Amino acid sequence: MARRRKKQKSLIRDLAVQRIDRLFDLADQEFEQNPKRSDRYVLLARRIGMRFRIRFPKTLKRRMCKHCRSYLVPGSSARVRLRGRYITVTCLRCNKQMRYPYENSKSKVEANNPVQ
Ligand SMILES: [Zn+2]
Repeated sequence: MARRRKKQKSLIRDLAVQRIDRLFDLADQEFEQNPKRSDRYVLLARRIGMRFRIRFPKTLKRRMCKHCRSYLVPGSSARVRLRGRYITVTCLRCNKQMRYPYENSKSKVEANNPVQ
């Protein structure tokens, strides 16, 4: 359903979002053979995101390291642990951790849940 929205003024942004999506797809495909290329795709995606001021959807945000920006694949370049109400993702490249509140897959309410 997220794919259906269309606001006229944000047509270009829509395109940018699609490109970002695509880049993450590619990153995913390349990862096994060419992890460096995946990092590059993620970098490009980030650049597009910044240019068009697009906030990355949560799902994508979790696929890159907040610290060193590398592409994260659970079990391969990242370790994912559930810790109480948080998901802890450890980047195996820089060994830093990111924490996300754990929530049921569809709930969109995260604003009332300050993360610290
Ligand atoms: Zn990292």
